[in-house]
Amino acid sequence: MPRIPVKLVSWEEITEWSWGLAKVIEKSGYVPDVVIAIARGGYVPARLLCDFLGIENLLSIQSQHWTEAAKKGERAIIKFDYSVDLTEYRALLVDDIIDTGESVILAKEHISNSWRPKDLKIAALQWISSVAKIKPDFYYMEVKEWVWFQYPWTRLEDVTQFLKRIIESSYREEGRVSWTLEDLNKKFIEWYDIAVGGRYIAEAIEVLAKRGLLKAINGSYIYTATTM
Ligand code: ADP
Repeated sequence: MPRIPVKLVSWEEITEWSWGLAKVIEKSGYVPDVVIAIARGGYVPARLLCDFLGIENLLSIQSQHWTEAAKKGERAIIKFDYSVDLTEYRALLVDDIIDTGESVILAKEHISNSWRPKDLKIAALQWISSVAKIKPDFYYMEVKEWVWFQYPWTRLEDVTQFLKRIIESSYREEGRVSWTLEDLNKKFIEWYDIAVGGRYIAEAIEVLAKRGLLKAINGSYIYTATTM
């Protein structure tokens, strides 16, 4: 059994879902003049919506909550607060997924109060209806049961976190310190049940080695039991 439910999302699915979302927006009759991407998850969908809806104006706001894969930070904050005048614009705020929805709620409030667009609507590829505190105006997919979607733009970051969790809890639970590449690949599938490809596993191991968590010795990786 996987330790947490994870679904791998491909670039092809992202393109298809973004097309679907663009059609939902078009059908509604809402014609935005500016797209605002919520950093970082909203970047790719926002850029694709600009393309599919023919919108030139693209801004970004960084509203952050989740600090690492499938693990929540304390609360949502606006990073790099700056001001723009959107009084002449109809805006579309875009994110990849509305989970608890706290970061999008905060971004919406901030934009309404300080950027003051003529109109402001929210679009997301996915909406986890069972946990979200807000329903986006436009979404492509309603998700009923919570899952961690492993999007293509966070693949290395997520795989690194997932491997780190495997290594740290195996040390805690069984005192294990030595790993081969094959063991890590096997455990990764056992725990997360997604096929990310060998490149990502190898690069994630490199990242962990650079951070001092793993040391390569005679073809094995040794956990140094330092905190990162
Ligand atoms: P909050 O972090 O306040 O709950 P969101 O629900 O909007 O706000 O999540 C913020 C960001 O965290 C999302 O835009 C997405 O990039 C990432 N994220 C949150 N939940 C998931 C999930 N279940 N799967 C993949 N990414 C997620």
